Amino acid sequence: MHESKPSIFGMSRNELIALCQQAGVKTVHAETLLAEIFRKGKTSLSDMTGLPRALQDWLQTHVDSSLPQLLARQRSGDGTCKMLLAMHDGREVESVLIPAAGRLTQCISTQVGCAIGCTFCLTATAGLVRHLSAAEMVMQIVSAQQFQQQRPRNLVLMGMGEPLHNYDQVARFLHIVTDPKGMAFSPNRVTLSTAGLVPAIRRMQQDALPCNLAVSLNATTDEVRDRIMPINRKYPIRMLMHTVREYIAQRGGKRVLIEYVLLAGINDTPADAQRLCALLDGLDCTVNLLPFNAHTGSAFARPTEDTVSAFRNILVQAGLVAVVRDSRGRDISAACGQLRTEISQRKQA
Ligand code: SF4
Repeated sequence: MHESKPSIFGMSRNELIALCQQAGVKTVHAETLLAEIFRKGKTSLSDMTGLPRALQDWLQTHVDSSLPQLLARQRSGDGTCKMLLAMHDGREVESVLIPAAGRLTQCISTQVGCAIGCTFCLTATAGLVRHLSAAEMVMQIVSAQQFQQQRPRNLVLMGMGEPLHNYDQVARFLHIVTDPKGMAFSPNRVTLSTAGLVPAIRRMQQDALPCNLAVSLNATTDEVRDRIMPINRKYPIRMLMHTVREYIAQRGGKRVLIEYVLLAGINDTPADAQRLCALLDGLDCTVNLLPFNAHTGSAFARPTEDTVSAFRNILVQAGLVAVVRDSRGRDISAACGQLRTEISQRKQA
């Protein structure tokens, strides 16, 4: 990002009002900016209708309204579209648009790389390079509007990175995208997925962040979860599930999403399914079962369809809502971190 100029995409409504005051124009123009930039996705100040010339000139000098560069784009046969964006410092970030049942969902990255180290995840192999700013997260949505002419209806913070490891910028992003006068995403249509950072889930609860919570559980014993998600050594399953139950109670019974990546021979047995039923007993949740999307070099494999179906049946018979979400865009590099890795390998070749 340009050091000298703040990005307009990271600004809240109050900051846009302050900006109008600094520019010496009426604060009502903050609402025009919200509509032109955040709702219509315009990035050229001269294309924005209803802005006084004095404000346009002032903004040209004092703020940055440029978008990341689109480095690569892949479209899958099922309509899934992946963008690889270069931020202003050259760091590469992926964002995926997923059409389903007439709705478009965008998967937002919150970090370049990730420090959490889940052993089945390609993003983890690079470690954490840096956090993304709220502006860089908003830019992913505006880029979809600019480069794809598509505006998502739902947002999921499930791209590269652990959102709760970048709490302050993610919280700022959530407030910007749910501002009813700006992007106006309903908080019910925004879902934050965490690997289980217990203190940050408690903070989310206290701050009443405007989003749904998803927990990436992926195992039913500490022995397996320690192995595939090292964060479990710090915040084991019992502690995590206790925190999730507290979160639901404090947030007035808000339903949570439990994500479970099925890895062949690791966490996909009937005994795992039964333990999962016990862990989720009485919890107001939906379980998303995600058969592993294999990538080159991975030590893990995708379970058979029969195994997935048997696993789901056990959950359903126990009264749980369980849905198999097959990885979209399997014919493109749609697993998180895959397109970025592929492009960098091509550059090195
Ligand atoms: S699965 Fe998510 S939390 Fe785990 S390493 Fe990958 S990006 Fe990070």
